Amino acid sequence: MTGPIGICIHGGCGTLDRSLQSEAQWAESRDHLAQSLTAGWRVLKAGGGALDAVEAAVRVMEDSAHFNAGYGAALNEASFHELDASIMNGADLSAGAVCAARRIRNPITAARAVMEKSSCVLLAAEAADAFAERQGLAMVANSYFTTQQRVDALASLKQRAERGTLAAASEAEKHGTVGAVALDAHGNLAAGTSTGGFNNKPVGRIGDTPIVGAGTYARNGVCAVSGTGQGEFFIRSSAAYDIAARMMYAGNSLEEATDALVFQTLKGYGIGAGFASIDASGKVRAPFNTLGMYRGWIGADGKMTVATHLEEHHLGAMA
Ligand code: ASP
Repeated sequence: MTGPIGICIHGGCGTLDRSLQSEAQWAESRDHLAQSLTAGWRVLKAGGGALDAVEAAVRVMEDSAHFNAGYGAALNEASFHELDASIMNGADLSAGAVCAARRIRNPITAARAVMEKSSCVLLAAEAADAFAERQGLAMVANSYFTTQQRVDALASLKQRAERGTLAAASEAEKHGTVGAVALDAHGNLAAGTSTGGFNNKPVGRIGDTPIVGAGTYARNGVCAVSGTGQGEFFIRSSAAYDIAARMMYAGNSLEEATDALVFQTLKGYGIGAGFASIDASGKVRAPFNTLGMYRGWIGADGKMTVATHLEEHHLGAMA
């Protein structure tokens, strides 16, 4: 069977105000989005699986300092990194995840290993690190993930907490995440998400990203979604699963279902939120309710688009 293929990614809805970075930095972040999409698209174009495409796309963003996942991840209140990731296979609803991992260079690959090589869905902390190490995955010192931007964001948030001005903190100071969803030529959908969580988060805090049905969900014939925003509310509203449920039980389109979550349910909690999503026909959608969201897609027409704020950059057809 050879059907339509498509991929959609996000690099988090914690985007900086446009004036706070140089044009060169914005261009570089868009370039990293394009590299992520290209990595996933190549897999799909060669007839490969949605899971492989999602993993490849997420790994590129985990390795980029522009996004809050892997290298460049957020720091917790004790100034170190605890990383969460999950991946889901829409073909059979199998899933794998790691949370509070400290030494796994690419947590999305560890999540996939949990799915395929363990009897669990979710492995935590030291056990996740030890499992990844036994699987022969690349391991790093926790300090590998640290960048000056995250050190500054942590200092700023601590200062705000002391002064009682936390509510005025920008989305970018607080959080971010990366995620990818894909449809392969065989009709399989997959979703993956990876994050450093919130800057200044309590040690041991786990967000929605490694929770299947909250930050990540995929089901063949329906949709694949990956979320970004304050995870506590995604968990409380089973956000990613709710999008699929709206489509399955209420006959919503992908657009109606994702909009309901972003502009009603999650906005109703007063939080910034966004999704990368794709349906079974390859239609992609990446709505957000913040001033920007790193995002991009290559739809069934084979054309690539990347964006950080409202303006979309159409990069033309893929070779
Ligand atoms: N969802 C992530 C978390 O709560 C953060 C984000 O997407 O910005 O850990």
